[in-house]
Amino acid sequence: MRWPFQAPAAVSLTYDDGLPDNLDRAIPDLEDLGFRATFYLTTGKRCVRRRRLDWRRAFERGHEIGSHSASHPCRADAYARPPRWLARDLRLEGWPPDRISREVGEAALWLKEEIGDDPWRTYAYPCCATSIGSPPDEGPYDEAVRRHHFAARVGGGGPNDPGSVDLLRVRSFPCVHPSFRELAGYCDAARPGGGWTVLMFHSIGGWRIRTRRSVHRELLDHLARGGFWVAPLRDVARHILENRG
Ligand SMILES: [Zn+2]
Repeated sequence: MRWPFQAPAAVSLTYDDGLPDNLDRAIPDLEDLGFRATFYLTTGKRCVRRRRLDWRRAFERGHEIGSHSASHPCRADAYARPPRWLARDLRLEGWPPDRISREVGEAALWLKEEIGDDPWRTYAYPCCATSIGSPPDEGPYDEAVRRHHFAARVGGGGPNDPGSVDLLRVRSFPCVHPSFRELAGYCDAARPGGGWTVLMFHSIGGWRIRTRRSVHRELLDHLARGGFWVAPLRDVARHILENRG
């Protein structure tokens, strides 16, 4: 697989939950270097809806505004002690197939109507949970995601091998209070094999699963200097789809 601009590797920077600091800090820092990224919005959240017009403008400037579901359901049985924010009603182990289908469809429709039509919009599984019911069944969730999206992001590290990656299970590194060296190391690990690193951020400079803004900026400089192809997850996934045999 050859990357555009003869880049040695591809990097997609992704930001979850539609936090306001993504608009106020991450996007200005990205655009200073001409980079575009992917922002996964939880479409039912008040903080997302309040900044709807700003998200729409970001989309129009070339960022990907992807889906992170409508209400952010997760599996409580993935935790030894379920976190307090994970209300009973949002626990996927109790969900029937028609509910996950409505959930994914509702978010896709909101993004289409409020942010803009994007036939290549991708999905990020909240908490990287890909199944419903008990015992866990991936089938109904997969089917719901496939109906509206051609690619989806999970956790699990990486980097992804463009020759073999399952585009509905793109692996990503969760960034939890990372150092610059750690992030640069993740990205550099993709260079030898011409791979694709996906980073999963939450807050930039705020409080929630934070990455310090200075670390974020230092990483962007590193990617610019290193000649990486930095592009939204949508664009890299599409490049792979259209170029692999
Ligand atoms: Zn999330």
